[in-house]
Amino acid sequence: MSAEAAVRVEDKLYLNRYLVDAGRAHIKVRPHTTPSPQLLSLLNVCPAHCYEMNSAGQVEITTDGCVECGTCRIIAEPSGDIEWNYPRGGYGVLFKFG
Ligand code: SF4
Repeated sequence: MSAEAAVRVEDKLYLNRYLVDAGRAHIKVRPHTTPSPQLLSLLNVCPAHCYEMNSAGQVEITTDGCVECGTCRIIAEPSGDIEWNYPRGGYGVLFKFG
């Protein structure tokens, strides 16, 4: 295995910086009692692991580490399970290249 292949996604994500817009989450999960299949899938597909299941069995989001990839938007916005917007200008992920 080459050294290149050994780099983990989590290590790459750690290089990013985030400016959190406190109190103005750019993605919201629709209140629910039982999560839909779309919501459940977000527990596995989000590369930044923003989605978690709480002790009541509902899916919650913490947007602080969101890389704005749009995966959850494609999966769960059409069904109305989430509301997705870009963060306000100057907030959100700050990608570091190189
Ligand atoms: S946009 Fe991407 S990184 Fe952000 S919460 Fe959705 S799936 Fe996760």
